[in-house]
Amino acid sequence: MNEELRALYQEVIIDHGRHPRNFKKLAHPSATHEGYNPLCGDHLTLYLQIDNDTIVDASFEGEGCAISMAACSLMTERIKNSSIAEAQKLFSAFHLLVTEPAPAEACEYLGKLAVLGGVRDFPLRIKCATLSFHALKAALDNVSSEQVVSTE
Ligand code: ZN
Repeated sequence: MNEELRALYQEVIIDHGRHPRNFKKLAHPSATHEGYNPLCGDHLTLYLQIDNDTIVDASFEGEGCAISMAACSLMTERIKNSSIAEAQKLFSAFHLLVTEPAPAEACEYLGKLAVLGGVRDFPLRIKCATLSFHALKAALDNVSSEQVVSTE
């Protein structure tokens, strides 16, 4: 990565870390999940509003380092108006981004979230970046298991 790009990525992370988007509680969320990363002390609660198969709103509250806040801010921006299947694909793509050396395909799919790829060089920071994605996956898993129960 060249220096200019690295600086730009840094700027996005600092901006979202200091001024997280969608930082609020949803009044009547369809799904929530609390995530905690004891290695760093990041603690957040994710709220999802789901209508049929679409995530119509997403927000979060909590506190943590700039990486964890920026990741959740960028993620909630990205998943709004996504289908549940798209959000699950996003989880997989992000997991590849932070664990594989040069996942070009994942980067393309992730768009702005690709700025967090730099954490793969800092193993202790990976959990900060993936915390919100694990919360997302758990929240979506709850929704689908509830749907399974309700059809019985
Ligand atoms: Zn952290």
